[in-house]
Amino acid sequence: LVDADGTARPTIFAEMSALAVRTGAINLGQGFPDEDGPGEVLEAAREAIANGVNQYPPGRGIRTLLQAIAQHQQRFYGLELDPDRDVLVTAGATEAIAAALLALTDGPDDEVVVFEPHYDSYAACVALAGARLVTVPLRGDDFQPDLDELARAVTDRTRVILVNDPHNPTGAVFSREVLDEVVRLADRHDAIIVTDEVYEHLVFDRPHVPIATLPGAWDRTLTISSGGKTFSMTGWKIGWATGPADLIDAVLAVKQFLTYVNGAPFQPAIALGLGMPDEFFIGIADTLRAKRDVLGAGLREAGFAVRVPSGSYFTVADAAPLGATDADEFCRRLPERAGVVAIPLTAFATPEHRGEYATLVRFAACKRFDVLEEAASRLASLA
Ligand code: PMP
Ligand code: GLN
Repeated sequence: LVDADGTARPTIFAEMSALAVRTGAINLGQGFPDEDGPGEVLEAAREAIANGVNQYPPGRGIRTLLQAIAQHQQRFYGLELDPDRDVLVTAGATEAIAAALLALTDGPDDEVVVFEPHYDSYAACVALAGARLVTVPLRGDDFQPDLDELARAVTDRTRVILVNDPHNPTGAVFSREVLDEVVRLADRHDAIIVTDEVYEHLVFDRPHVPIATLPGAWDRTLTISSGGKTFSMTGWKIGWATGPADLIDAVLAVKQFLTYVNGAPFQPAIALGLGMPDEFFIGIADTLRAKRDVLGAGLREAGFAVRVPSGSYFTVADAAPLGATDADEFCRRLPERAGVVAIPLTAFATPEHRGEYATLVRFAACKRFDVLEEAASRLASLA
């Protein structure tokens, strides 16, 4: 996490966004939207600030938001949550992930099984917790794990199986077989499933299936999500964890000493957002699907081999047909060659498996249509 001289190593996202600013390139690296979310949600936060919702909120979150989260899980997935015991508001999904890993593991004998490539905070938080990271590579054009490899990775040392579905950075949505196998293995080895579902509403060709809804999963599953992606407010950092009360209490025990509480005026606003009509939720998936298609067409035109994603903000494209052998070097030169920033998939992989993703690049599709079209026309110069 720190360089030899003690300076904090910037995350890949900070590094690539700085590169975009320095070079004036279009930033398809870091996944954040370039337009704010719904006006009524913005207005609700303004109102909350004006009405004095500016002091410490309650430890678990304000009651309106706890109820809205429980109702959302009921409405979309048929889950019955007790808002007072089964829900915890966190400083983004990031804090929920950190608090969960700190709470649920206890030293170097405890293993956390994660698919790779994976979101950067997972390995960092496993390291902060002093636990051991065990990764299972995603394979093939659709980035699914091999079920035998998964079964070999999960043992009695496994404390947590950490799943991210829809998946960053690949855009994969895991098959029902994969999710069922995760539940079966967790049950067999008495592990907890922590599932990061921040892209739950951003799926393109099939409904999202939360692991917590699978038979036998609820009692051992902690589900994490966030208002950042659903409402295009990534800077608000309102996330949440849901699950059985004992798991929520364990996460709360850590959360209260990480941030204590967070985001008072944003909490009622996200509560309002979670209650928006179905058209809103259908609309955000439809819009992002259309953006995925504009980006995909541009990448294909430029000569990339595109791995069409089933969900998330991201599209992975193979730069090998353009002659690239090293995506890291390809991405470092991309701003000067084409005025676009993207992130090499290797940045999300362990040294052991980096070779398997050597020529793959992640592009963010969560940008305005005109920005994606401009990026596509710039990338066309590569062809
Ligand atoms: N998990 C995944 C898979 C993500 O892509 C992101 C962020 N962008 C997060 C967690 C962090 O979410 P938040 O901003 O709510 O902390
Ligand atoms: N989740 C976003 C991404 O993957 C960025 C989050 C961050 O900057 N930490 O690009």
